[in-house]
Amino acid sequence: MIKVVKFGGSSVASAEQFKKVKSIIESDPKRKVVVVSALGKRFSKDSKITDMLYLLSYHIKYNVDSTAIFNQIVERYEEVKNELNISINLTREFDIIKENVKNGANEDYLVSRGEFLCAKMMASYLGYEFVDAEDVIFFKYDGSIDNEKTIEAVKSKFAEYKNIVVPGFYGTFPTGDIKLFSRGGSDITGSILAMALEVDEYENWTDVSGLLMADPRIVKNPKAISEITYEELRELSYMGASVLHEETIFPVKELNIPIHILNTNAPNDAGTIICRDSQNTDNIITGVSGKKNFTAFTIVKSMSVNKLAVIRDTLNALDKFNVVVEHIPTSIDSFSVIVENKSIEKSVYDIITEIKKVKGVISVEVDKDISLVAVVGRNMVLKPGISGKIFSLFGKNNINIKTIAQGTQEINIIVGISNNDFEKAIQTIYNGIVLGE
Ligand code: ASP
Repeated sequence: MIKVVKFGGSSVASAEQFKKVKSIIESDPKRKVVVVSALGKRFSKDSKITDMLYLLSYHIKYNVDSTAIFNQIVERYEEVKNELNISINLTREFDIIKENVKNGANEDYLVSRGEFLCAKMMASYLGYEFVDAEDVIFFKYDGSIDNEKTIEAVKSKFAEYKNIVVPGFYGTFPTGDIKLFSRGGSDITGSILAMALEVDEYENWTDVSGLLMADPRIVKNPKAISEITYEELRELSYMGASVLHEETIFPVKELNIPIHILNTNAPNDAGTIICRDSQNTDNIITGVSGKKNFTAFTIVKSMSVNKLAVIRDTLNALDKFNVVVEHIPTSIDSFSVIVENKSIEKSVYDIITEIKKVKGVISVEVDKDISLVAVVGRNMVLKPGISGKIFSLFGKNNINIKTIAQGTQEINIIVGISNNDFEKAIQTIYNGIVLGE
């Protein structure tokens, strides 16, 4: 049995956190493949090493004296090394980095050194072998992962060493240069390693005990989600709930490898398991989340024209402005197109003009005050009447529903309401459906 275990920035932010990581790893012999982020924040006003490295890179690019920021970065690593007596020659490591940057190494190389050094130190501290991501994670020219090459390399390194630490967040581009994933990408590294080695579980250690059923800034002490499917997670994340990089599930989904979100600071908490199917029926809904600031263009068409043609031409008009459409609720002679405010801010009048040119359009109304709230749950399929319950709860609480959309798989119900009602709507759904009040 093998587990890939990934520790995020806050889990490796200091010597104290390194100690927690070690005790977690030593408590389960299956934890053979370790992925680490760069050192994160130790306290809320602290800086992440990755942000400091970006700053360093700007200093170098614009020829601004970078000594101070460089020294601050060195200090963070030295502190951990000294406190834990880790045998690594940091002076030499930083000299190599300086030299490579001087010789034209790209920004991705410099920024990736955050995870590189963290992994080197962690490997030495744990007595595991350091395996550089540059030797096992390979990109294609289009930016996607070269699975064949990657899987082969990962398997062969693992077969050679058995217990390894790999830096997250980067790999090698076909040109031989280092290439980063997008921010938060160490999650993806863990997922790729889990896929390549077909492991039993991918543990993702962070600073929260898993996902919560609602945003704790809105709902006081929401319940934790013990199990969630890949699809549900995608729906919830898309609507604002975030704990993992959104691309994390792709590599492991096919092989049905569960991702277990756990808390480095509370390792005995149950956390959240993300998997393909879940038999857990404790709750009717899995979670509720949402986003503010959408616009609905409501289009009324002439009775004599074909609705699909008008919808198609309207979408083509929006496409000219690169607008991403979220939902299209329809009725017989009208339909709405819901889009994020930020995608139309600069072009709203031009868009209206363009839609009005569509054959058969009688009028276009614009409502810029929309929030979307998503109620997500695989168990809703088993229970008729959830939508009815949501509508009656909203009615009782004076929340006016502007639009409704339900996905065909019935794992989500999305309701459009006024921005002012956003927090109240989430609280109402939580109280009414989760707590049954
Ligand atoms: N250190 C990188 C970041 O801050 C990558 C990661 O932590 O996953 O985005």
